[in-house]
Amino acid sequence: MVRRARRINRELAEVYPYAHPELDFRNPFELLVATVLSAQTTDLRVNQTTPALFAAYPTPEDMAAAVPEELEAIIRPTGFFRAKARSLMGLSAALRDDFGGEVPGRLKDLVKLPGVGRKTANVVLGNAFGVPGITVDTHFGRLVRRWKWTEQEDPEKVEAEIAAIFPKSEWTMLSHRVVFHGRRICHSRKPACGACPIAALCPAYGEGETDPEKAKKLLKYEMGGHPGQRLSPPPDYPGSPAPPLGAG
Ligand code: SF4
Repeated sequence: MVRRARRINRELAEVYPYAHPELDFRNPFELLVATVLSAQTTDLRVNQTTPALFAAYPTPEDMAAAVPEELEAIIRPTGFFRAKARSLMGLSAALRDDFGGEVPGRLKDLVKLPGVGRKTANVVLGNAFGVPGITVDTHFGRLVRRWKWTEQEDPEKVEAEIAAIFPKSEWTMLSHRVVFHGRRICHSRKPACGACPIAALCPAYGEGETDPEKAKKLLKYEMGGHPGQRLSPPPDYPGSPAPPLGAG
């Protein structure tokens, strides 16, 4: 299982060399806020919302002092906006009062912030502080169970079992690759098995559509790229490819 898991990771690294956090951010505070907003919505939707949000409240001090209704109006498109506004104002106040207005770089501090669980903390640590972390979201959990890397349902147990399979240096990128694969190909209800580059390694092959043509129609792209293919970008596609297939 471990050998096969590592092979899947290597294959995914080839398919998604451009895997990255899909939330836009310029500093740890913005990533923290964007991650809180990303619950129950798409990263694309969050990215459409955050420019106005950070223009209005660039720092924790600003956000802590927001008029709740005004902040709610800006983040409304991300859903659950009242609860999210409460979390954002609460965590901003905690950053201002307890951490000198800076996002702390330690798990145990991050998880104490209102609205910040282990998943959010790991996203922030992995991507804003370079601390290796495995982020178990809905995609990650579903895929690693399909691949029989774990049978656990509880995210913390999943995280621990996956951490035992891979070296620390792989944790953050592995998380991105798996989430990319889950968003684009290995969907929850109808995985596109017939268009899946790791079908040969997958114990759950056949759980979804195996007909290549029908499977291709199931592929989804939030940001574009070359999903489902070995990436060999045409010359006009430098490093991080622009979407040839459109967003949607
Ligand atoms: S073969 Fe099917 S179930 Fe397995 S990873 Fe690919 S899409 Fe998912």
